[in-house]
Amino acid sequence: MQKAAPYIDSFVVIIALASGLLHPSFTVFYQSVVILFVSISVPLFALAFVTYRYTESHSQRIQGKRKKPAPIAKEAFGTARAALIVSCMAAWPMGLYKLGYPTGMAWTLEEMGITWWMALLQIYGGIMLIDAMTYWKHRLLHTKLFFPFHKHHHTFRDPTPFAGFAVGPVETVLTFWPLLLIIIPEAKHFAPLYFTAIISFVLLNLYLHSGIHSKLLEAILPKILLNSSAWHNIHHSDVNANFGEVSYFWDKVCKTTLADMKAKKKVAATS
Ligand SMILES: [Zn+2]
Repeated sequence: MQKAAPYIDSFVVIIALASGLLHPSFTVFYQSVVILFVSISVPLFALAFVTYRYTESHSQRIQGKRKKPAPIAKEAFGTARAALIVSCMAAWPMGLYKLGYPTGMAWTLEEMGITWWMALLQIYGGIMLIDAMTYWKHRLLHTKLFFPFHKHHHTFRDPTPFAGFAVGPVETVLTFWPLLLIIIPEAKHFAPLYFTAIISFVLLNLYLHSGIHSKLLEAILPKILLNSSAWHNIHHSDVNANFGEVSYFWDKVCKTTLADMKAKKKVAATS
């Protein structure tokens, strides 16, 4: 798999781009890809740049002072490639929406046919499901067979915010495929909460890869079951611990926190 992975990754990029030829209107599809790519990348890189400038000069970096400069060009390339694949996936429902086809995107509660409380409950349930899915996907990517598709993200031992979405093409699809669910008209997504959740996830991810910890955020995030920078940084420095991508819930349940992994190693060494 080690040798085949780069080819499979390149194939995924080609398929994502070529899939537009099957869209009811490939002009609308590729226009949507451009619009999505620009609207994802420009704010994402602007935010990453501001956070990077601030965090690199921070006196208390989690992993201490850097010995060599961070590979930000490689990080940015990985993030831009992931943004392109996400744009291709999201261009499917966006293109269909523009052409007037029914999709799962609803902008009002009337369209959803539910109340505010139900919408909040739905988005909460959705976040829980995404957290479970990304945890098990991440565990799968740390198996010997699948690690070649994940190792790109682990070339950044002390990441900068540019590495927030620097994952390989196969991993991008495994993470973001639920975007395609919007194509199904019956799979109703309440747009105002859906986009708020996506933007919050992007902001959280920038913080998770910032390399520093904010006292305030470290006090708040764990209390609402969310990952923090101090928590996720351990996944980059120690690799085989803290796999949760949204919450640390499954790490606690499955005993894959750093302390659990160290204890397991100790037992294995003494037995
Ligand atoms: Zn990992």
